[in-house]
Amino acid sequence: MSRTTPPRPLDITQLFPELREHSTTATRLHPRPGEPTVADSSVGGPLLWPADEPWPVCDDAGAHGTSNLTTPAIERRKREILADAWARPALPGGEFLTAAERAEVDADKHLELDDLLEEPIPLIPVAQLYRKDVPDYAGPDGTDLLQVLWCPVDHEDAHYSPKVFFFWRDSAAVGQVRQTPPEPAVISDMYLPDPCVVHPEQVREYQYADLLPEDLRDRLDARDEELEEEDEDELLDYQSALSQAPGWKVGGFARWSLTDPYPMNCSVCGVAMTLTFTAASTDWNGRHCSWRPIEEDPDASPDFVSVAFGRGYDLYVFRCPESFDHPAATAMQ
Ligand SMILES: [Zn+2]
Ligand SMILES: [Zn+2]
Repeated sequence: MSRTTPPRPLDITQLFPELREHSTTATRLHPRPGEPTVADSSVGGPLLWPADEPWPVCDDAGAHGTSNLTTPAIERRKREILADAWARPALPGGEFLTAAERAEVDADKHLELDDLLEEPIPLIPVAQLYRKDVPDYAGPDGTDLLQVLWCPVDHEDAHYSPKVFFFWRDSAAVGQVRQTPPEPAVISDMYLPDPCVVHPEQVREYQYADLLPEDLRDRLDARDEELEEEDEDELLDYQSALSQAPGWKVGGFARWSLTDPYPMNCSVCGVAMTLTFTAASTDWNGRHCSWRPIEEDPDASPDFVSVAFGRGYDLYVFRCPESFDHPAATAMQ
């Protein structure tokens, strides 16, 4: 089943034609739990990784934060137990979990995991995206596959979010595929994506208001204030309904809603970076969000991937437009 973003409640360029110059496209990924293979675009799925290429690790031991640590095995078992518990009638006595289940869910509380942060940590697969599936794919000539991996613990040098790495490759050049990538001995329980298939859909976006020319921004703000007085802001305001899509996506613009916008400049060459990939705590924001795909139940949880950043923020990942070899950088918003 595909996923379809409802048409915007109004075409904002009818009111502000100049916005056409501050517009771009994004591909919403709409990840949903499934069983992707290495031949599929996916979130949290297996990667088409050459058997003879070393698996990347993060050895920034000094930057690793100690919040929410667990192991992949415990976290997967915990999710399984909780999903089963939600799906069944309450236990006798009204308990949510049996004592045995409770012990498994709490197993990581008794482990001393901090020391493992000193060792190199194998990166974990976050997404792989084939050019043929993703209209907003960007990558070096001769590549058709973007692989996104991250170091699955908080990084003090990345505003306490995971450190993200991009890899591009030509899928036809991959011979033998690595079957069992190494798993990290320690992760944050917030940074292990469940395997998801994706349903790419291209949408149009407009630049975050604070990054528009001042005159245009002022007129948009004035309109949003008028709407607020009429109690129609949720449905029609520029920022929540008309400009940037929420959720996992490729391309598009960032919503700088936690901090004000700040420059994202390449750490190697200093040029302004380009938003390339967004990982999100939820795929839309609340029951009345107009970005919820028409196929979805209004009461469904918008969290399909089991990844979360801070208090439900998004993680924007930027690349250098001068060189695909320069490191990615992130902003949590
Ligand atoms: Zn790391
Ligand atoms: Zn650069």
